[in-house]
Amino acid sequence: MATPMAASQFIKALEDEGVDVREYRSWRTHNRNHKGPWSDLNGVVIHHTAGSNSLALCYDGMVGLPGPLCHTHLAKSGLATMVGYGRANHAGSFPANAFNAMKSESSTHPRPSGPETVDGNAHTYGIEIENLGNGKDFYPTKQYDAAVRWASAICRFHGWTADSVIGHKEGTTRKIDPKGPVGAADGPQFDMDQFRKDVAARLKTKDEAPAPTKPATPSKPATSAKPTVDLSNLIAAARRDPGLKQGGTTHAADVKVVEAALKAEGLLAAAYASDGSFGSSTVAAYRKWQQKCGYTGSAADGIPGKASLEKLGAKRGFKVRA
Ligand SMILES: [Zn+2]
Repeated sequence: MATPMAASQFIKALEDEGVDVREYRSWRTHNRNHKGPWSDLNGVVIHHTAGSNSLALCYDGMVGLPGPLCHTHLAKSGLATMVGYGRANHAGSFPANAFNAMKSESSTHPRPSGPETVDGNAHTYGIEIENLGNGKDFYPTKQYDAAVRWASAICRFHGWTADSVIGHKEGTTRKIDPKGPVGAADGPQFDMDQFRKDVAARLKTKDEAPAPTKPATPSKPATSAKPTVDLSNLIAAARRDPGLKQGGTTHAADVKVVEAALKAEGLLAAAYASDGSFGSSTVAAYRKWQQKCGYTGSAADGIPGKASLEKLGAKRGFKVRA
């Protein structure tokens, strides 16, 4: 059960993921909520528009299929435009096998079969990617990349894996979308397994890009030999230690170095600063450090990323092995 993100959270999540977002007409209150629920979300559905200049159509819909026809329209340029918030007429119904694979984040997405008993519109976010859908019109790299970022933003917000993302053609045999070559007219066909791989790769990166705001003032480096911490050990510890009993450790040597730096930054109380456990207090302190670096939202989740950790090391005298 996932409660939908608020409209403003939706915008922010997309922007944090590097998507160029615009808002269209009254999208924040434009929905089909009077026709059914949109309160328990389980996944993300990728579509192509099967047309061109489809922005207004995605908002208004058509005779027999009122809009919004998705939540976001994605232009060839990669520009994402919000057209609906709430229930939208994009997915239709799904058979249980396809829906359950998405909902349970199965690593395989079976060919949809059986009666279409699930109300897909109740449980999914949808994007319409501008493309003729004739198998020849290609998705420019910028557009494809924006689609990956769009799906990643939603997954990141909800803590979903890339296996929460399906193509419309994986939800029902009634549809063929998304279809068409990617990157160039002779590029590879839009492949949902590849798309999920691209989303998964994005979800791993996070705070590896340079911080969006001005960096913290560098201080003079320590003269003595610097300790080295291992980024993957720290990520593992930050994910595991909070679930262990108080003070439980997995990579104490690396964690102690970071704890000392967080204490020196005034972000971690002395009582927790040398136990070598990346517990919830240390996660909270690291989140404050990420925020100090200019990260926001899900990019500041308290799990060390390469850029923020290197910045902390540069300031507090340790090196990072990544
Ligand atoms: Zn579709």
